[in-house]
Amino acid sequence: MVKNKKQPVEEIEPEEEILFTSLRAGDWGEFYGQKNVKESLKIAIAAAKKRKEPIEHILLYGPPGLGKTTLSHLVAKEMGVNIRITSGPAIERAGDLASILTNLEKGDVLFIDEIHRLQKTVEETLYPAMEDYALDIVIGKGPSARTVRLDLPPFTIIGATTRIGLMSAPLRDRFGVIHRLSFYDPKELEEIIEKAAKKLKVPVDNASIAEIAKRARGTPRIALKILKRARDFVQVKAEGKLEKGNIKQALNLLEVDEVGLDSSDIRYLRSIIEKHNGGPVGIETIASTISEDIGTVEEVIEPYLMQIGFIKKTTRGRVATESVYHHLGIELPKSSKEGQSKLL
Ligand code: ADP
Repeated sequence: MVKNKKQPVEEIEPEEEILFTSLRAGDWGEFYGQKNVKESLKIAIAAAKKRKEPIEHILLYGPPGLGKTTLSHLVAKEMGVNIRITSGPAIERAGDLASILTNLEKGDVLFIDEIHRLQKTVEETLYPAMEDYALDIVIGKGPSARTVRLDLPPFTIIGATTRIGLMSAPLRDRFGVIHRLSFYDPKELEEIIEKAAKKLKVPVDNASIAEIAKRARGTPRIALKILKRARDFVQVKAEGKLEKGNIKQALNLLEVDEVGLDSSDIRYLRSIIEKHNGGPVGIETIASTISEDIGTVEEVIEPYLMQIGFIKKTTRGRVATESVYHHLGIELPKSSKEGQSKLL
């Protein structure tokens, strides 16, 4: 089981959670990007409504902060049902799951975040619940023990995970609809930032919106977090107005660089270049060099670095590409120039 010890820009503080909740898209029109996922969910919802059945079980996966929870709320809202929120690690025993499931009403959505972290016994209780809307409960102990099947109202599970590879195949196969959320492009992030700035009543010019979008690692949650921090900064230093001149100052204070890399990313990249000659180097080695756990490296740090072409995964480990050397202003060693072109 992977426990995230430290999630640099991703870490969610309670105050921020309130902010994200208050800025959460209230309808499809406020949910930008992810066009295919949205379309497919809308069709699944329309079909379920027509059949007067609950919507199929849905699995959403992808890096944190891309809108999995928000989409789940939208699905429940559109279906006109309640949503119950829980997470893999929060359901410790099969009994915990049984009590959640027996409290659901017909058609309700049960959102299970970090579903890859469900205990095996809990997962096994979930199978008949997902397939037949039934709970198998063992009564008694020893030879006199017997199993009683309890019917549940039809419901929908929406599972979310940042690590679909860690989910067991039987659990994955029980989801009728599976979608991967991808990073957002800057234009989509700009729309999200503009909308949030309006809701937060922060005066912000287009250049500042573009600057935040550029540095948000393709992730709405990070864009909103930067917007909020930048707002705090200008309220104290610049009469509350976010303009081109001051947005950079605010962003530099946050230690987010021109392409959205923070100090953990930089330490990760520098460790490959300075300690391992640009790679290839195994993820375990990098993680221990920068004292970060492998889960955080794999889920939080690497997806974006791969997306922007800063690292490549090879069979022998991670390799830093030429772009990293340029970005960090480090000269590409002659020997590694040849090595890199062979590897990439
Ligand atoms: P996840 O569950 O994938 O970690 P969330 O759904 O919690 O992500 O999203 C984090 C924040 O980003 C929320 O405040 C949410 O409203 C906002 N957000 C995410 N995706 C979008 C989107 N496509 N359009 C507008 N806001 C979004």
